[in-house]
Amino acid sequence: MRQQITLEQLLGDAKTVAIAGHVNPDGDCIGSVMGIWLYLRDHYPQIKITAYLESYREVFSLIEGIDQAKDRLETDEAVDLLILTDISSHDRIGVAAPLLETAGRTLCFDHHITNTDEYTTLFNDPQASSTCEVICRFLDMDKISPACAAALYTGIVSDSGVFRYESTAPETMRVAASLMEKGIPFAHIIDETFYRKTFAQNRIMGKVVEESTLHADGKLIVGKAFHEDMLRFGVEAKDMDGIVSELRNTCGIEVAALLYERSPGIWKISLRSCDYLDVSAIAGEFGGGGHVRAAGCTIEGDPESTEEALIERIEAALCLAEKGRI
Ligand code: 5GP
Ligand code: MN
Repeated sequence: MRQQITLEQLLGDAKTVAIAGHVNPDGDCIGSVMGIWLYLRDHYPQIKITAYLESYREVFSLIEGIDQAKDRLETDEAVDLLILTDISSHDRIGVAAPLLETAGRTLCFDHHITNTDEYTTLFNDPQASSTCEVICRFLDMDKISPACAAALYTGIVSDSGVFRYESTAPETMRVAASLMEKGIPFAHIIDETFYRKTFAQNRIMGKVVEESTLHADGKLIVGKAFHEDMLRFGVEAKDMDGIVSELRNTCGIEVAALLYERSPGIWKISLRSCDYLDVSAIAGEFGGGGHVRAAGCTIEGDPESTEEALIERIEAALCLAEKGRI
């Protein structure tokens, strides 16, 4: 689905451009920020471009230029154009958030059903596998370098779960094929950025899976990690990626929930569903958002009441959904 409008047109006469994603950046966020950064670097040398990315997993170092991304604002100077990618909502912008106040114009590329932003020029397709897939519609495929293709491919692989989630469409495969034609090391990208885990990540995943519990007649699986567990295993929030997907692989479940204590008393919740439950609606009720099959939120509170409230809410939603399906 090519767009009538191109990134080139959207740039206008901007001389300074900042590109930013969301807090705790995942593969799609990183791929989309760096994909645009590389495209602009290659074709618009006259533009001053800055990419902002908060702390990311080491595996993403294979993306060219990522070492030049900033993890904090070094100046409060206004930019002509701010490009936001994959943010889902404004409160998730993170380090680059102050730029929003002063930027001449702001564009946002996204694929989150919960992004209903009215303040930026929003290109949001909730049906798309990834923000990287959305962005490809605005680029001239002939002008995409292998490095830029690798970044965008990384994002598609990440958010489509290596082309296996429902959001993977024929168009996703066509875009991925065009990127493959640039000669990217696609097998290496998939292995390194999606499957590779550090020893510490594997160990905490083992602990969470071992201690996971079943609810709602086996339709809900819940895993949990306390802050002290994370300290003991030497992992950070970014290392928890992948655990909820492992829980979701369990036979018979519809919903997988992972709760981990990012910092004392602050619980990050990741939700995944398999076939019918809209987890973005549940995350939304807890102040978060995301997609129908993958969503998240952050709650402050003690572990028992947080977990109880979440389980209760998911059980009720499963019950309702079951009734609707009969
Ligand atoms: P994850 O569970 O992997 O952190 O996130 C799954 C999806 O939900 C991602 O698309 C992510 O952008 C979205 N998401 C996660 N946490 C939040 C949150 O606190 N607020 C919103 N709006 N979206 C979230
Ligand atoms: Mn995404």
